Amino acid sequence: MPELPEVETVRAGLELLLAGATIARVELRRRTLRATIPARLPARLAGQPVVAVRRRAKYLLLDTPSGTLLCHLGMTGTWRLAPAGSERDHDHCYLHLQDGRRLAFRDPRRFGLLDFIPLGAEQEHPRLAGLGVEPLDEAAFTADYLAAACRGRRQAIKAVIMDQATVVGVGNIYAQEALFRAALRPQRAAGRIPRAALVTLVTVIRAILRAAITAGGSTINDFRQAGGASGYFQHQFRVYGRAGQPCPTCAATLVGGVVGGRGTTWCRSCQR
Ligand SMILES: [Zn+2]
Repeated sequence: MPELPEVETVRAGLELLLAGATIARVELRRRTLRATIPARLPARLAGQPVVAVRRRAKYLLLDTPSGTLLCHLGMTGTWRLAPAGSERDHDHCYLHLQDGRRLAFRDPRRFGLLDFIPLGAEQEHPRLAGLGVEPLDEAAFTADYLAAACRGRRQAIKAVIMDQATVVGVGNIYAQEALFRAALRPQRAAGRIPRAALVTLVTVIRAILRAAITAGGSTINDFRQAGGASGYFQHQFRVYGRAGQPCPTCAATLVGGVVGGRGTTWCRSCQR
């Protein structure tokens, strides 16, 4: 499943493709994804210029003067340039641009989403309302903010940083990597972690996501590879998926278990 860095890579790719472009028409080939695509979506976007391509959590937001096309990639969603003749199974939506190009949204597993948000209705949209702060927003995701979120909580720190109402886009993989680099055991009670460790945790979460986005940026030129099917930036992982292997820092055997309902790997000697 694409995590925040992969979605940000797709956003940057779409921004390159759609800068200055106008949507001529939207062709829906299937309306039932994770939720039904609203019937009004094609009419509301036809003839609209794309004025910005944004990301909020793992949602892509294509802004037009009439409103916003919201897209979630789900597990297997990808966007690609799809010239005539390059149609594929599971192409659920085509964006026909006025300059003759065509973009395809393809999603074999159909856990993705496409929706239309009228102008001014973004804050109340059920998928967006209640989302926590963006981890890359330095003014919002601060040590003070995380300390307030942890205060009095006996929940595992891993569950807190993966809670989308607290901070968005820190998925299972990046949570494990961040806790390793911050030397914190994933199951440690959030409310008992000293402030200095939370300062470190905020810093490493941001650094890991930024590094993954930078790694993904090199794939933007081949936009077909920039979609959800491109997988993760695996070369950067120190603990994720490595239970039973030696810790890259101390060579102790990494252990695996379930924390916050998800498979988790950590080092018993480096993480406290
Ligand atoms: Zn270790």
